[in-house]
Amino acid sequence: MSVNKLGVHALVFAGGTTPAEVEYIITETKKAGYDLVEFSLHDSPKLDVPGTRAALEAAGLGVVASRGLSFTADVSSDDADTVARGAALLHDSLAITEGLGGTHFTGALYSALGKYMQPLSTAGRANVVAVLKELAAEAAGKGMTLGLEICNRYETNVINTAADALRLADDIGHDNVLIHLDSYHMNIEEDDFTRPVLLVGDRLGYVHIGENHRGYLGSGHIDFAAFFHALQDISYTGPITFESFSSAVVSPTLSNDLSIWRNLWNDGPELARHAREYLVHAIDGASRVYS
Ligand code: MN
Repeated sequence: MSVNKLGVHALVFAGGTTPAEVEYIITETKKAGYDLVEFSLHDSPKLDVPGTRAALEAAGLGVVASRGLSFTADVSSDDADTVARGAALLHDSLAITEGLGGTHFTGALYSALGKYMQPLSTAGRANVVAVLKELAAEAAGKGMTLGLEICNRYETNVINTAADALRLADDIGHDNVLIHLDSYHMNIEEDDFTRPVLLVGDRLGYVHIGENHRGYLGSGHIDFAAFFHALQDISYTGPITFESFSSAVVSPTLSNDLSIWRNLWNDGPELARHAREYLVHAIDGASRVYS
């Protein structure tokens, strides 16, 4: 059995976080056998934080919160007001994560999720570092960690590779800032599924598992055996969360930010059960290597 807690992204089940949607997400996450659920905070004004926390605790589920920013609230901007709006979103989201009972807040905490039309500016990068230094200090005071999710070039211009992310984390300079690898993004940007894992090593804090088209695990061409071997080589014991998106379940914001234009599945609960079985077998299989 895996030493890693296995998680599932809430958007496998529902596009928003109204009370009825949260109840459905938690019920289906539990039924599918996962240890934790990841909520995107894009829809956070609708989220009943204490009610969700109580439901998670009643179900015995852990929680991780994630988000990206937007072009009007973006800490990688050169514009001070835009940076301030981004910083405010991050501080609010950290408080929501804490309110949910989570200790890990991750995602594209450093920029909008979307296509930038120019490279990151020097001033923009300095703004990212300054805001995340402050957020990391606040998180450390709460016993929480921040994740830097490495996203592909069409979703950010701040960090596209593990090497970029480590440089950014070094500049932020707080040891509660961890790296978040995602197989979907790695497939686009990294040399392979081994070298970035070895490079990040014990600074890896969170993992997203997604196919190259973000559909059913095993229906695409990601080399999960190579990835799980590498995770075992660094003795990664943190969470591994399944992430998949289809036009069958739509968030009015996140689905568009992620360019989810295709229907890759219809039945979220069935997809979630399939993914968990796939992960359990793939992680176990990768450990059965004799030499
Ligand atoms: Mn991801």
